[in-house]
Amino acid sequence: MEKDFYITTAIAYVNNRPHIGHAYEFILADIFARYKRLLGTPVFFNTGVDEHGQKVWQKALSEGQDVRKYADLNTGFFKELTKELAISYDRFIRTTDKDHIKTAQWFWQRVKAKGDLYLKDYEGYYCVGCEEFKEEEDLTDGKCPIHNLQPEKVAEKNWFFRLSRYKKQLRLLIKENIIEIVPAHRKQELLNLLEKAQDVSVSRSKKRVPWGIPVPGDEDQVMYVWFDALLNYLTAARKNPRSLSIKKSDFERWPADLQIIGKDIFRFHAILWQAMLLSAGFSPSRKIFVHGFITLRGEKMSKTLGNVIDPFNLIKTRGVTTLRYYFARYIPTTEDGDFLPELFDKAYESDLANDLGNLLQRFLVLVTKNDVNLSGFIGREERLPDWYIEKMENFQFAEVLSEIWKIIGEANRLFNKERPWEKLKTDPPKARQTLGIIYRFLLDISFFLSPFLPSLSQEIDQQLKTFQPKILFPKT
Ligand SMILES: [Zn+2]
Repeated sequence: MEKDFYITTAIAYVNNRPHIGHAYEFILADIFARYKRLLGTPVFFNTGVDEHGQKVWQKALSEGQDVRKYADLNTGFFKELTKELAISYDRFIRTTDKDHIKTAQWFWQRVKAKGDLYLKDYEGYYCVGCEEFKEEEDLTDGKCPIHNLQPEKVAEKNWFFRLSRYKKQLRLLIKENIIEIVPAHRKQELLNLLEKAQDVSVSRSKKRVPWGIPVPGDEDQVMYVWFDALLNYLTAARKNPRSLSIKKSDFERWPADLQIIGKDIFRFHAILWQAMLLSAGFSPSRKIFVHGFITLRGEKMSKTLGNVIDPFNLIKTRGVTTLRYYFARYIPTTEDGDFLPELFDKAYESDLANDLGNLLQRFLVLVTKNDVNLSGFIGREERLPDWYIEKMENFQFAEVLSEIWKIIGEANRLFNKERPWEKLKTDPPKARQTLGIIYRFLLDISFFLSPFLPSLSQEIDQQLKTFQPKILFPKT
């Protein structure tokens, strides 16, 4: 049996509500998952939330809340967002799920049996924002440059993961594209990072951070949140999550075919995670796709700058179709991209309402008013053309949409040139022929749009079936 095409997003950290970057990553992964399904490939799409760690613990504490309730609350917002964005995931994993905790502990023991975990006294600077120990050379004026915070000085006994043992093997796997890094320019960056990589502390003192998965056989320690979180990908790869004992062969969906992640956490996925897999005897991930950040008029969005855009608001103002369209069409998948409110409006008014919505409307009104019989015109093939597949496989979402809009433009030109509303009186067979061609165009357009704009595509299909025109994008 063919293995599922296994696609993952990063799991969102629940120390806050979702921001626009989460929405972006959900949508990228969803477009690809829907595209694969359209090809007839069995897909398993995993997304979810990362709930443990010091940052969540402290945030809950500072808000006077029980940490579990706090995690539940924010998880609720993430679930709500995936629902509003029409994300077609197969599993929404939580790192507090029972099967995940079991998998993480099973995995820990496997790595330990391999001799890759050892206890060491450690003293270092810990940035809670990054959930990571920092080297002194990583700090600017004694502060974490990302969070502008002075890291805590921590001295404790921790479990260390022998990452250094896998550096050579990893280098080869990355160089030979066994682990494929997309875009390619991230590969050199990764090889440089790998050069500097050292053994990693993978546990925390329970006294300091009680919110985590207990380390098997060590009552004083919980797992480091990254060690725990990365394992979600393996947990979701098990086909029978309820079976009591775990064997390596249970992870039938592994390896992941495509892991979609942001550039800030790229190295955790491409180094630590892959080394963990090798240690436990699993194949590495097949492909890691790294996307950029969304900026607002060229500026990074942040709470401190007060320019954060709430994805729920964007959905409320222009609808989910416009948001999905904007991200796919106007944000380059592998680079940072700008959110421009005026372009967001234009996407709705011009691209969607005018180019596409009007075309469908004019066509349907004309056909129904004149009772034009379009039976006999062949329907669509329901097959994606080569140009489409080639671009999708290279994550050229904007280029695919641009091609689809060329077809829309073509249909509009034909409509205006042939003037079927006049020809229905003077040359009915010719008018019927023109409308038949436009009908076929619209069926194809809707099919091609379905991975990008699933609910719109459904609505167009419905209208083309019932011939009952309904305005898709009302004037606002
Ligand atoms: Zn930091």
